[in-house]
Amino acid sequence: MDMEELLEQLLEECRPYTQEGKVATYIPELAKGNREDLGIYVLRSDGRHYQAGDYKKRFTIQSVVKPILLLQALMDNGKDFVRARVGVEATGKPFDAINVTDQTLLSEHINPMVNMGAIAMCTLIKGKNGEERFQRLLELTRALAGDPEIALDEAVYLSEKRTGNKNRALGFLLKTYGMIEDDDVEEVLDCYFKACSISVNSKNLANIGYVLASRGKRPQTEERIFPSAYAHYVNAILATCGMYDGSGDFAVKVGVPAKSGVGGGIMAVVPTRMGIGIFGPALDGKGNSVAGIRLLEQLSQQMYLSIF
Ligand code: GLU
Repeated sequence: MDMEELLEQLLEECRPYTQEGKVATYIPELAKGNREDLGIYVLRSDGRHYQAGDYKKRFTIQSVVKPILLLQALMDNGKDFVRARVGVEATGKPFDAINVTDQTLLSEHINPMVNMGAIAMCTLIKGKNGEERFQRLLELTRALAGDPEIALDEAVYLSEKRTGNKNRALGFLLKTYGMIEDDDVEEVLDCYFKACSISVNSKNLANIGYVLASRGKRPQTEERIFPSAYAHYVNAILATCGMYDGSGDFAVKVGVPAKSGVGGGIMAVVPTRMGIGIFGPALDGKGNSVAGIRLLEQLSQQMYLSIF
């Protein structure tokens, strides 16, 4: 069976699992998503690409932007600076957890793949204000995806901004504990809300995943976007905490670095071999695409993708 047929077959086998999930509703605009959607795009290191299902549909990147935020922070400041400010241990807690006890909050308690760490990451991007930081992040996203048309979904952004009070609480906690220096927390949050609201499709995620898989190089060129050391840094964090508090289970079932988002996207990185983009907005209780994970699990078994 060729790759095209394999993807078609797996997609049809996995589509029924969309019924087991729910479209995110806590951001009102996301509730408009269609539960039955499921798409996949695979970009291989030989330059070939394969796709099936709803791979052309656009959705907001949500937390899949977190590795891009991390990359931009690394590119702007270097590893030591970033590492000193935001830790790398898996929190084992939900993405929006308020990770504070009566002990002082320290950089070791957060990581870039949960909201608190990602909000901190927004302040590490260079730019004279939130808007300039966001524009630089958008440019990096376009460069990684090889798609200059990628843009902000204004409706989702406004919906996030209006309802994102838990993220506001996280931002002010970071400020309270001296973990962000910016005076204007709302401006930092604005950059975060916009970052989550970048509109992409499965092909974009596969291309971004591919650059991480090839350790910084764009497909079919020698053009380097970032140093290979940053790919090692980001991929390691994706493997340990990219799938929220389902990262251990995902490592056992699929076994590749990956990042999910509540818009239904999953970006998977198969080092040296391929980038994979998934779209399936019906989510499990942890915020991961139910059918998307099934699809990756099947593909990983068929193609021996696990790195473990
Ligand atoms: N914008 C979302 C939030 O911060 C992103 C969450 C996610 O995809 O995990 O609530």
